[in-house]
Amino acid sequence: MTTTQRNVSEQQARQVAEAARESEWRKPSFGKELFLGRFRLDLIDPWPTEQPRPDADEFLRKLGEYVRDEMDGARIERDDRIPDEVFQGLARLGAFGMKIPKEYGGLGLSNLHYCRALTLVGSASASVGALLSAHQSIGVPQPVKVFGTPEQKKAFLPRLAAGEVSAFLLTEPDVGSDPARLGTIAEPVEGGYKLNGVKLWATNGTVATLLVVMARVPEKGITAFVVEGDAEGITVERRNSFLGLRGLENSVTRFHDVFVPEANVIGGLGKGLKIALTTLNTGRLSLPAMCVSAGKRSVAIAREWSVERVQWGRPVGRHEAVAKKIAFIAATTYAMESMLDLCCMIADDDRNDIRIEAALVKLFASEMAWQVADELVQIRGGRGYEKADSMAARGERAAEAEQMLRDLRINRIFEGSTEIMHLLIAREAVDAHLSVAGDIIDPSVSLARKGKAAARAGGFYARWLPTLAVGKGQAPNAYGEFGPLAGHLRYVERASRKLARSTFYAMSRWQGKLERKQGFLGRVVDIGAELFAMSAVCGRARAERDHRPEGLELADLFCRQARLRADALFAALWDNTDSLDVRAAKRVLDGRYAFLEDGVIGDTGGAAWVGAWEAGPATVDDVRRRIPPA
Ligand SMILES: Cc1cc2nc3c(=O)[nH]c(=O)nc-3n(C[C@H](O)[C@H](O)[C@H](O)COP(=O)(O)OP(=O)(O)OC[C@H]3O[C@@H](n4cnc5c(N)ncnc54)[C@H](O)[C@@H]3O)c2cc1C
Repeated sequence: MTTTQRNVSEQQARQVAEAARESEWRKPSFGKELFLGRFRLDLIDPWPTEQPRPDADEFLRKLGEYVRDEMDGARIERDDRIPDEVFQGLARLGAFGMKIPKEYGGLGLSNLHYCRALTLVGSASASVGALLSAHQSIGVPQPVKVFGTPEQKKAFLPRLAAGEVSAFLLTEPDVGSDPARLGTIAEPVEGGYKLNGVKLWATNGTVATLLVVMARVPEKGITAFVVEGDAEGITVERRNSFLGLRGLENSVTRFHDVFVPEANVIGGLGKGLKIALTTLNTGRLSLPAMCVSAGKRSVAIAREWSVERVQWGRPVGRHEAVAKKIAFIAATTYAMESMLDLCCMIADDDRNDIRIEAALVKLFASEMAWQVADELVQIRGGRGYEKADSMAARGERAAEAEQMLRDLRINRIFEGSTEIMHLLIAREAVDAHLSVAGDIIDPSVSLARKGKAAARAGGFYARWLPTLAVGKGQAPNAYGEFGPLAGHLRYVERASRKLARSTFYAMSRWQGKLERKQGFLGRVVDIGAELFAMSAVCGRARAERDHRPEGLELADLFCRQARLRADALFAALWDNTDSLDVRAAKRVLDGRYAFLEDGVIGDTGGAAWVGAWEAGPATVDDVRRRIPPA
């Protein structure tokens, strides 16, 4: 038996990430233009119109009834388990086929309706939301729908639409943010491949009957396979448990000589990571849908509680310190929903490339929803820290603030951690520069090629730089059609140019070292997220002003808050402790400040931080959970 651990250099890791990137831009991208200093409001305004879908509305109505009347979120939390009846009930409604085309037995929902369904389900149980989201957004339906052969679609999609659950297995003990280390091997054998490896943290992995497995085919690279959950040689070794999402069916899954037919390769050998990333373009919208859900619940709980709870002679919501938190929760929820709806609708009408916007909304919503829930816990005081069941046992109203906080925390880690999202979006933000000037700063490039690149870059920058000096945002009456919000859009236009100037300056200052300036790049991306959020709320508020004029107030409030955050980020681009922090972290890692650890009990037990795994048959029992069909 061998322990499979790959040694991968930083450069190799980058090359793998780069190769997985979609390098072409076939459609216009609001986000890409924004980072280049071109505020293309026309790409997202007028606000897209929702396509009428009476069948989808009817599904959402039935789903709402089911969630309200039959899904007991408190029970799932208490039992750490989603009951079989919920799997069956959702299957009967067609919820496992929400994004599967009708011709394969699914509901063929748009992104907008799909995300609304997740928001609805998530409000009762984030675990069930995660089940559905992992199944459709990263599990078998989406990659097979987009990259599958007609035979694969016919073979798998109807089963999934009927209620079979799927999972996506990329992560391994030694592989998280860095897939270049992937150790699961798919060895070619007659008629197919033989899989060996261990996969960690697969959501739905303990119940799924169809899996997407990422494995390395020698000489060809990381490849996506559809694998039958019951195939011989698969053992579900453990069900993992977490801070939140208590009902999650999340596995450690072992593959020992598992035969997978050739016909089950998705999209070609070596295409696995590209498929995963492309799938995530719209797949990433699921997590913000869950964040919107938490935001909406937070607004409701904050409103009702802050009126009723009286301390120091006033309802707590009338004390300024609490009022500010309520305003933040409301404005941020409005923004998350506006960004999500906008992304869904521009994905649905298929005119724009949404990869940057979807990544921005995932990043923004996962970070902000966490802050929203944290503020909610604070507003609720001691009850914010108390479990809903405990309050109910005292006869009080059971609001799930602490659970929400726990459930939301993972959104900042999975489907691209915040740090990885920063890098991924920053890569797109500097793409135009790299494509014209990348060779100049690449030490491996010959002098002749550098010379050509310099000439190309000279031409590009001679045309581009002057466009960053002046723009519509300086005209006092620009964007007048947005009424009271016009000033905010002028700010966005000016800030977009400033952002591009700052990025250009950083490129010239640090050149190839810019990729290591993660503090700087993270702020550039966060400013972009605030600007996108401001654009989304202004567009929505204007479109809805006749039937929902109060939206203008929320959009204005959000923009004022966002501008303060963006201004602080702009200032911190150049005034920060980044280098000092990097030096300090090195000293911490070297043990210089070990005295700080004195005086506490802290034995980690001596086990390895990352467990090594050994290829071979399972030595523990299979803990797979089988859900009887609906
Ligand atoms: C509840 C749960 C459900 C999950 N579901 C699935 C699933 O269904 N399928 C699946 O395949 N995986 C799943 N995962 C795995 C998840 O996607 C990973 O946890 C995530 O990708 C992060 O990887 P990691 O935990 O190994 O962290 P690491 O990669 O070890 O990262 C540790 C820290 O370092 C940071 N970091 C790493 N690389 C860099 C870098 N280059 N620059 C800056 N910072 C960096 C990270 O952001 C993080 O803060 C799940 C995990 C959990 C906890």
